[in-house]
Amino acid sequence: MKIQWFTVGMYQTNCFLLTSEDGHCMVVDPGDGDDGVLEYLQKNGIRPERVLITHGHMDHFADAARLAEHYDIPIDFAKNEVEYLFSAEVQRGPYEEEVFEEFLQAVETRGNLLQDGDQLQLGESSFQIITLPGHSACGMCLYHPAAGVIIVGDQLFAGSIGRTDMYRGSGVQLIRSIQEKLLILPEETVVLPGHGPQTTIGQEKKTNPFLN
Ligand SMILES: [Zn+2]
Repeated sequence: MKIQWFTVGMYQTNCFLLTSEDGHCMVVDPGDGDDGVLEYLQKNGIRPERVLITHGHMDHFADAARLAEHYDIPIDFAKNEVEYLFSAEVQRGPYEEEVFEEFLQAVETRGNLLQDGDQLQLGESSFQIITLPGHSACGMCLYHPAAGVIIVGDQLFAGSIGRTDMYRGSGVQLIRSIQEKLLILPEETVVLPGHGPQTTIGQEKKTNPFLN
C-alpha cells in the first residue's frame, strides 16, 4: 500500500492519501486546506473511492463534503460519533457555520457508518476499524495489519495524546482505550497521527509520558 500525506489548514492537520496495490484510492481527513487535496487529486488524475473522517472536529473534515460530492463517493464516519457531531455543544472553532452544516448533510446522505471491529475494503487492501473515546465521543482509527500501519486521528501523537478538554473529552477514557486497544498492536506498527510526525507503537509504549 502506498501512503502519501499532506499537512493542511490552520491547525496543520495531516491528510492521508492511501492507494492499494491494485490502484484503488481513498482520502483520510482532507482537513481545512481550501480544497488543496481536491486540487492535487484533479491535477494528478486520481479518483478516490471513499473519504474517511477520523473524528468530528472541523480541522479534519471541513473540506470533506465538497470532496465527496465532487467524486460522488461515500464518507466513512464512526456510528457512535454521529450524535456527537450533531450536538450543539461541539466546538466549531473559527470556521463558518455553513461548512459545518454542509458536513452534517453529507454524513446524512452519504455516510457509511462504521463501528469498532468493522472491516473496510479498498481494492485488495483490508483495513480494520478501531474506535476510541476520550478526545471526542468516538474517534476512529484505520489499521492495516498487513502493512503494519495505523492512522489514529487525534487520539495519540508522538510523545503525547489528544486534548481532552473539549466536549465529551475524558483523559481517563482516552488513556485507558489507548492502552487497551492500541498498545497491544505489534511494537513495530507505524502510527500516523492527525497532527505532527509519525511514530511507532513501541516508541510510544516506551517513552510517551501520558501512557506510563
Ligand atoms: Zn480533534
